[in-house]
Amino acid sequence: MTQPLKPVRVRFAPSPTGHTHLGSGRTALYDYLLARKTGGQFILRIEDTDRRRYVEGAEQELIDSLRWLGLNWDEGPDVGGPYGPYRQSERKEIYEHYAKQLIEKGHAYYCFCTPQVLEQARQEAQKRKELPLYPGTCRQIDPAEAARRVAAGEKHVIRFKTPESGSTSVTDLLRGTITVENSRIDDAILVKSDGYALYHLAAMVDDHLMKITHVIRGSEWLPSLPLHALIIRAFGWEEPVWVHLSVFLKPSGKGKMSKRESADLLKDGYSIFIKDLEDLGYIPEGVLNWIALMGWSYDDRTEFFTLPELVEKFSLDKLNPSPAAINFTKLDHFNGLHVRALDTDDLARRLKPFFERAGYTVDYDLLRKVVPLIRERVTVLTDAPEVAGFFFQETVRPDPQELVAKGLTPSQSAEVARRTYEVLSGLPNLCLETAEPPMRALVEEMGLSAGQVFGILRVAVTGQKVSPPLFESIELIPRETVLNRVSEAVKMLEDLAAAQG
Ligand code: GLU
Repeated sequence: MTQPLKPVRVRFAPSPTGHTHLGSGRTALYDYLLARKTGGQFILRIEDTDRRRYVEGAEQELIDSLRWLGLNWDEGPDVGGPYGPYRQSERKEIYEHYAKQLIEKGHAYYCFCTPQVLEQARQEAQKRKELPLYPGTCRQIDPAEAARRVAAGEKHVIRFKTPESGSTSVTDLLRGTITVENSRIDDAILVKSDGYALYHLAAMVDDHLMKITHVIRGSEWLPSLPLHALIIRAFGWEEPVWVHLSVFLKPSGKGKMSKRESADLLKDGYSIFIKDLEDLGYIPEGVLNWIALMGWSYDDRTEFFTLPELVEKFSLDKLNPSPAAINFTKLDHFNGLHVRALDTDDLARRLKPFFERAGYTVDYDLLRKVVPLIRERVTVLTDAPEVAGFFFQETVRPDPQELVAKGLTPSQSAEVARRTYEVLSGLPNLCLETAEPPMRALVEEMGLSAGQVFGILRVAVTGQKVSPPLFESIELIPRETVLNRVSEAVKMLEDLAAAQG
């Protein structure tokens, strides 16, 4: 297989039926990469003809999620383009026109069978252990007679007329040629009784009119591929290159994730929906790197990719059709790598809303100074307020027990805190250079370990047992605030000693 060098036209064609899934993000990413790599176009088409499954707001979420990922399209419902409209619900007349054309060419027919008759035929086929295909009843109706019945207002659908004999072969780029007996292909409904075209017709018509060269879609469409090839050939159109991507399996690798399981995931801070990942503190760079490698690889070694690097390195022949188990540990890994690759201002800007959401009022200049201290400790952006919230509040509320140093009693710990206060309050300003040496001297003098003395100071000032580097942190907090926190700690320890004593 060689990389197509000619500019491609690819489309991402989601149905707005729910939240935007990782799988959609990946399909859109591969479309985007191929378009950008070849200097072609990436098109967004909204497939909203199934009005029963339509979910209000889903289209907006799709657009927001793709924009968040940074996958910008060249043509689409919101940006327009020469082949619009790009929303299938606005293309009803186009599909009607092409459905009629198929009828005129003898490749489609009106069907008047009622749901009851169809259900009965289905059950009988099942009893005979045959495929539940449409029995072809209305194929026999004379076209002029059928047209009269339609004109008289009789309820009907339009079906594709699959050839009765022979077989159909069609090639998928990743899976090779598939051949199916035509007797096993259903006379699928192309237009429903409400006049709306179904995917089988609408997508084929749109892909043709929009000059799509490569159809990249989920492998759930593979069983319909021979039917789609037949429809395209019935029109006499050229087929696109077909690429059916691998499916995503749940982390255990066993089966697809159910709705219930994806809801449970959220409790662990993970999600299969793009919008949730944003809320959970993942960054688009990390998510993109992660999903890019779920079904594609560059070589066995390179793992870290930015979007421009992916554009440069992407090729269809490295796609892998095997199912991919979703691995959230890898997501954390990639997110951490990309967080650390951001420059200070960029990371500070992205962190600010997460601090605010956690209830902190953020001074941006201070945040910029905090970022270098916490960068290594942030896997997801929501980690930051947990690690560094103490910079943005007046007081901290440590657990008094945590102020007690290992191997010391509360009253001994209180003594350490008092001596610490004396040392620090004697200094005109508190920074790494000025505060650390006298504190080390105090450790010596008291015959304790640095861990014991600095541990008390750390919990007193940050409220946490684990924190960014202690003296660098102290440097960023106003002197008065540091001293107040230490003196609060003295009181807490004295109270604890009294209560126990
Ligand atoms: N609307 C279809 C879906 O969301 C589109 C598949 C395609 O890309 O053709 O599954």
